[in-house]
Amino acid sequence: MSGAMDVDKVVGAIRSVLPERAFIGLHEPCFAGNEWGYVKECLDTGWVSSVGKFVDRFEEQLAEYTGVRKAIAVVNGTAALHVCLLLAGVEQGDEVLMPALTFIATANAVSYCGAVPHFVDSEEATLGLDPGRLGAYLEDIAEIRSGHCFNKNTGRRIQAVVPMHAFGHPVDLDPLMEVCRRFRLELVEDAAESLGSFYKGRHTGNWGRSAAISFNGNKLVTTGGGGAILTNDEELGRLAKHLTTTAKVPHRWNFCHDMIGFNYRMPNINAALGCAQLEQLEGFLEKKRLLAGRYRDALAGLEGVRFFEEQDFVRSNYWLNVLLLDEENADRRDALLAQTNDGGVMTRPAWMLMHKLAMFEKCPRMDLSVAESLEKRIINIPSSAFLGDGDDKA
Ligand SMILES: *Cc1c(COP(=O)(O)O)cnc(C)c1O
Repeated sequence: MSGAMDVDKVVGAIRSVLPERAFIGLHEPCFAGNEWGYVKECLDTGWVSSVGKFVDRFEEQLAEYTGVRKAIAVVNGTAALHVCLLLAGVEQGDEVLMPALTFIATANAVSYCGAVPHFVDSEEATLGLDPGRLGAYLEDIAEIRSGHCFNKNTGRRIQAVVPMHAFGHPVDLDPLMEVCRRFRLELVEDAAESLGSFYKGRHTGNWGRSAAISFNGNKLVTTGGGGAILTNDEELGRLAKHLTTTAKVPHRWNFCHDMIGFNYRMPNINAALGCAQLEQLEGFLEKKRLLAGRYRDALAGLEGVRFFEEQDFVRSNYWLNVLLLDEENADRRDALLAQTNDGGVMTRPAWMLMHKLAMFEKCPRMDLSVAESLEKRIINIPSSAFLGDGDDKA
């Protein structure tokens, strides 16, 4: 609803959903399953590092759940994105389209390839990259030459686009795929935040040639630190495995490597944690959906602010719940952040837009007015799965 936001009332509404505790974090992990047992097995057997059965099991569980042909477990989500970009043919001097409203990892991974991030605006309905405006923008600045897309202003090739499913809410992928076909762009989903999020019934990470997921400590499922590459291309999957395991040619004793690979493999002890976590994924998702529903109800009818909800055509994991302030109340954001954090309820604003960071301020970009507006109006509120537990509240 529009009108002046009453900070006290909004804080009261958030509190009404949360248990009485001295401190409530933004997203705390939940280890209520086989975590201790599986990790102990690693310690008892000595298989803690780069070899062991949990890595294979984790990859299989992940592929099955997300519906991809192959999942490759790696050390973190940033490393996963790095390799996805290389597999998409991103080379030194290329440009890669990505939202300005994202976590730093997306832009860093592009930079690791020697490529240049090219920032795209977001749409308010999804908080993700706006395919309609991207298409119109490319009509203007891009041209196709010998099967590739080039930026007429910089002369550089635009090789790929990296949508990011912000806070677990899927980007509108169908129109984006159409833009990719029209402009011969590779699609790499940054699905770091969207394990358990579906677009038109299919899990995110299934649209491009490959996609990246993160299992950092604050993500929905954690391996301590970790990530995965998802792909439906078996051949690409094998290459991803090879590249992320130092490109060693299998042999009983010889150390022969046939490419410059990476030591990006997820250790077995982390994968053990991940196996136990994935077993609980459905439960986490149910609780998070209950929590989102409670926030929605508690905040309904308050002026100047709304609880951000999924689009009809998606199922979001509600990884981090989002409060969206109206334009005219954006100046009260900091008061709301201060009051909640002072009271032990952890909240935080959106990331600073990528083009405002010193390293990326000279990168090409389209008009970013929606992202600029969203940056000032987004607040993330506590979203741990256990908060959706009715018992904890009582
Ligand atoms: C968490 C995250 C990543 C990957 O982070 P790691 O900490 O390297 O696992 C990448 N992109 C986005 C948008 C993220 O939120």
